[in-house]
Amino acid sequence: MRKLVIKDLFVSTNEGYEILKGVSLEIGEKEKVALLGPNGHGKSTLFNAIMGNPKYVVTSGTIEYDGKNVLEMSVDERSKAGLFLGMQNPCEIPGVINAEFLKAAVNARNEKPISFYKFYTLLNNACNDLKFHMDMTSRSLNDGFSGGEKKRNEILQMRILNPDFIMLDEIDSGLDVDAINLVAAEINKQFDENRCSFLIISHYARLYDLVNPTKAVVIVNGKVAVEGGPEVIKRIDTEGYEWIQDELGISVKKEEKKRVLLETCAVKDRTHE
Ligand code: ADP
Ligand code: MG
Repeated sequence: MRKLVIKDLFVSTNEGYEILKGVSLEIGEKEKVALLGPNGHGKSTLFNAIMGNPKYVVTSGTIEYDGKNVLEMSVDERSKAGLFLGMQNPCEIPGVINAEFLKAAVNARNEKPISFYKFYTLLNNACNDLKFHMDMTSRSLNDGFSGGEKKRNEILQMRILNPDFIMLDEIDSGLDVDAINLVAAEINKQFDENRCSFLIISHYARLYDLVNPTKAVVIVNGKVAVEGGPEVIKRIDTEGYEWIQDELGISVKKEEKKRVLLETCAVKDRTHE
């Protein structure tokens, strides 16, 4: 059985700021897990560390998928092993045509290059189901796409690549109600038809209501604070995160204010003179 096993994971930025402070988590095949937690507590960092973003350094702990050491793999090896990340802020890559990028990603997984006809059919069917205009695939990757279009393009990639372990980072932010319904339908379709697992970050109960996660995990202060059933999602939706502080005695760090540059203060002070 393909399982993701994370043990006592510590992750810092490459500038040495520690974000994850001992995350342990197991996600088996055919699980649909909601990943919750207040802003700035390390959810996206966990996804980036699993996928191998070089901005994040694993200082200790292990990540295994299907019995293999993920931390020894390059990003493309992780992707070929079946891991997929639908990013919170997908980047724009001017000059790289969306469809060509998708075709290259498909070919990287196949021994023989996919035929034009087969790829076109695959792309056309996916665009029809996701109500994503085919014109979007002949534009540069995410270049000038709206927030919602970028998110739907991530779902298009998920559909075309057919991964086994799918992480979706606030995939519903910026989507209108119709688009959320389409994205949820695609998540449910992949889950029902394949042996894949999902780890889904969202701040809104709407998406979770549509995809019915089997489990919920809450990250607080860079650690897993709560693991439970779907009732945890309902509770956070109605009560927020304060109960975690009250009932579990964990002090929930507020988002840190960014440091103000000294020069800025000096200028401000002078204007008051
Ligand atoms: P979440 O997804 O839970 O909202 P993140 O994992 O994105 O939180 O970030 C956790 C904390 O680490 C935040 O305070 C964020 O500002 C900080 N952080 C994330 N990435 C970097 C980075 N590359 N450099 C500096 N700080 C970062
Ligand atoms: Mg995030």
